[in-house]
Amino acid sequence: MIEEVRTRYGVTVEPVFPDRQEVEDMVAQRGPNLFYSSPEARHLCCDIRKSRPLGRKLGEVRAWATGLRREQSSTRSQVPKVEEVEGRMKLSPLADWTAAEVEEYTGQHRLLVHPLYARGFASIGCAPCTRPIQPGEDPRAGRWWWEQGSKECGIHFAEDGSVRRNLLSVKNG
Ligand code: SF4
Repeated sequence: MIEEVRTRYGVTVEPVFPDRQEVEDMVAQRGPNLFYSSPEARHLCCDIRKSRPLGRKLGEVRAWATGLRREQSSTRSQVPKVEEVEGRMKLSPLADWTAAEVEEYTGQHRLLVHPLYARGFASIGCAPCTRPIQPGEDPRAGRWWWEQGSKECGIHFAEDGSVRRNLLSVKNG
């Protein structure tokens, strides 16, 4: 997908990786499949692999844009189009778009679509934590499907629904 984006749109895609030492420590202490063991372990993995790298990258910018939409889940129902988060502007221009509107716009403008959508992945995350959904299921039902409750990784929302990132420690057990 990155190569498709690079080739078709002629843009530079900057990959953002987690801290190698933090990942090594986490896997050594908790094992490679820690995310299945408890919500706390899953949040730790998301924090180290996703939230912290995002936070590091955001330290370089004054604003960033997301694809959050209010209809995606209850935790996103109040997403504003523009808000200030930790001193920088967070833009969610699709906040009030429906899935049908996204699909229509995508088709009209012949935009690239990730091939996993055609295989039922309505929300795409890390491979071990994402499955396709069945017709009628919530769009985010395939994310961390073994868990009850919030389907967020901590990048966008903390446990209380606020936009603070969820910071945990790899040393905490
Ligand atoms: S979604 Fe990714 S970062 Fe989060 S628990 Fe699963 S493997 Fe870890």
